[in-house]
Amino acid sequence: MLRYEGLEVYRVDLTLRAPVGTSAGTHLERPVALVRVLSDAGDGWGECGALAGGTAVDPSLDGVWPTLVDVVPARLGRAAASRGGEVPPAGVVAHLFDTTAPNRLAAAAVEMAVLDLELRAAGRSLADYLGIGAAAPPDRAPPDGVPAGAMVGIPADRSVDTLLAAVEGWVTRGFGRVRVKVAPGWDVVPMTAIRQAFPDLRLQADGNGAYRVGDADRLAALDALDLGCLEQPLPHADLPGHAALADRLDTPIGLDESLTTVRAVTDAVKYGACEVACLKPARLGGLLAARRAVDRCREAGVSAFVGGLFETGLARTANAVLSGVPGMDLPGDLSDPADYLVANPAPYPGAAGGRVVLPGVPGVGSTPDLLTLSQLGATVERFGRDG
Ligand code: MG
Repeated sequence: MLRYEGLEVYRVDLTLRAPVGTSAGTHLERPVALVRVLSDAGDGWGECGALAGGTAVDPSLDGVWPTLVDVVPARLGRAAASRGGEVPPAGVVAHLFDTTAPNRLAAAAVEMAVLDLELRAAGRSLADYLGIGAAAPPDRAPPDGVPAGAMVGIPADRSVDTLLAAVEGWVTRGFGRVRVKVAPGWDVVPMTAIRQAFPDLRLQADGNGAYRVGDADRLAALDALDLGCLEQPLPHADLPGHAALADRLDTPIGLDESLTTVRAVTDAVKYGACEVACLKPARLGGLLAARRAVDRCREAGVSAFVGGLFETGLARTANAVLSGVPGMDLPGDLSDPADYLVANPAPYPGAAGGRVVLPGVPGVGSTPDLLTLSQLGATVERFGRDG
């Protein structure tokens, strides 16, 4: 039994190396919340995916913060008390929270921390837990790992040359898939330029909800470019519109922001609104919910990949492992956090040659560095053991 001893919630204000433009705004600041669950047999770490400004469906970090420091310690403490002091198993953590947005994001962080704690205590890697044989055992040569995709934002100067240089950088480094942010007025021309320069590249476009069904005629021009998908062209709530676009366009329609729960994934697939799924464990309420969402996609013959939220090495390592489960048949957003964060407080296996070798160490596979967190000015709220 793992005896629950408390919780620490860290906040560290990180910065992206360069602004990342999307149709929904520009990302630059990247505050991150990390949670650390304490037990008598060691600690476990989790990361909250909330961004500085949130998204169409996810609250900002400031919006999730009250849940992290008020609701989470109370729920976790009560759940442990009702189990005679035992840390609630990772498999039940999500059930301690409802599916409102702040709760989903907070639950994902806590579940990761509890899972990390359990796996460390059991001497098991996350890859082993998820039934993935691609992890690197300490006594054998590392296997190939999982393929990594990259993401390119809308250049601040809206220059096709700038965009092509960014794409070329990833291709040169061995990344076999590039996901490109598009917006009305920045779509057919830049995507056509990329396709002409890189005829064999696995190429996707991401609209972040900026289009309307009336744009279908113009978007049909993308059909000539053999895109892997056009992701989230319409606002998140418009499943009928996405289903109509999926009928109308040859380009597969992907969903991202629409996929907030396993139920939402199931419904979107059933309605024919989702031909490719961008799954984000932080948004879906955790790794285990994301695993179930992958299963729903696989059963329906829908391709899936893990989407990024500018994670530190902690959550990105978890995402890399999740990317190895059957059904995650497309490369995920698994570039190295060092590529987009000025400072990364948690190690990442790296994406050399466009592949990530999954860690075989016990736990999720990455431990935030306390000294680095301190040097970066992280603050911590303590509940329990030292609080
Ligand atoms: Mg997206």
